[in-house]
Amino acid sequence: MGQRAAKQQIEKGLKLYNNTKQEQAVRKWKAALGKVGDKKRLRFILLGHLALAYGDWGDYREMLGYSVQQIDIANELDELELRAEAYLNLARANEKLCEYHKAMSYARHSMNNTASQEDPLVGPIHLCLGNANLGFGHFQQALENFDKALKMAIKIGDRGLECNTYGDLAEVYISLKDYDKALRYTVKASELVRCRGQEWSPKLRTVVQLNLATPYRKLGKMDLAMDYCEEAMKMALQLNDRAIQARCLCIFADIHRKRGDCERAYPRYESSLSIAVEAGDRLGQLQVLSGMAKTLVLMKQFQRALDVNTQALDIATSIGNKMSMLRSHWLMHQLYRALGNPKASQQHASAFDGYLRDLSLYCGVCHEVMGSRHDSLNVLTCCHIFHARCAETSSFKARGCPNCKKVLTIPIFV
Ligand SMILES: [Zn+2]
Ligand SMILES: [Zn+2]
Repeated sequence: MGQRAAKQQIEKGLKLYNNTKQEQAVRKWKAALGKVGDKKRLRFILLGHLALAYGDWGDYREMLGYSVQQIDIANELDELELRAEAYLNLARANEKLCEYHKAMSYARHSMNNTASQEDPLVGPIHLCLGNANLGFGHFQQALENFDKALKMAIKIGDRGLECNTYGDLAEVYISLKDYDKALRYTVKASELVRCRGQEWSPKLRTVVQLNLATPYRKLGKMDLAMDYCEEAMKMALQLNDRAIQARCLCIFADIHRKRGDCERAYPRYESSLSIAVEAGDRLGQLQVLSGMAKTLVLMKQFQRALDVNTQALDIATSIGNKMSMLRSHWLMHQLYRALGNPKASQQHASAFDGYLRDLSLYCGVCHEVMGSRHDSLNVLTCCHIFHARCAETSSFKARGCPNCKKVLTIPIFV
């Protein structure tokens, strides 16, 4: 295949891809890949499209494979720009596979190969680093990364990156139980899709739709949560996107559980779990198992709840997700108490305290725990987090941040 013909195939694939014909696009790119011969740069571009397509499908192992091939070419051609892109794809695949240490290391490699701080990859690299930090429960570092990603997105007018960053910021606030802020960010993302997102990938549009469901559910607006989730499920079925279908099923189950309908919730968790297991999506498995354990508690099946929660704790430990470990230990503490085993209950309470200290989830003003119940939080420009009520007093504003002593009292994320 000549250079021009290969480029045409790439363009045709892109058109198909953005017209929700992903499978046809991937077939076209794979066919072109077989014909480009020794044209390494074209091979690199095709591998990049394939990596992102498989990433969109939630097949991160396949994405990893294409990214590794990209790195080989980037090294052969010895070009910074290609290396930066290849390492970013590798970092993203690892982040999605919950290999957070590897993700951070590859993201830093990618950063070292960017041309300057103005490079368009700098924002996405920060986003990837932020997600890896969030995966570990390092909230302050994650917020620092998301802040940089967002500033970069706005500076260079990258609306897709801006939209993704809002979605990830919402995740931070959901973890910390400030659901009003989480909702504000998911709404901002959906407004961007409405105004400018028509040409964006159908995956991103579906994720944005789905992201609205969780904050609405947490705020008790079940009907709205159900509507957004149903809409996302329709889109995911059209796209044949199993990863999003699994997330929708988990949210449907959460809604039924919150309505007290355990009979409807449990089978949906089971379906979601089987997809997450098949895809090797450990974060997805963790979320489902946590919902299952809570459902079993509602059904007063404490021993089964304990078994399911033990599985959740094992997965949380394997990926290093401290926030999930903390919450699993808390549930274990309560379950062992209900089952009449005070010694085991106490052990889990101690483990819980250890993670609480490790995660520094104490407000620097009132010293109470943050993230244990729905509450309004403020993040300062130094990325330290406080209760909004504690950070908005005039004495706090005069003294500055009690954690790092910087007099930076304007909240960055409000
Ligand atoms: Zn406080
Ligand atoms: Zn500070």
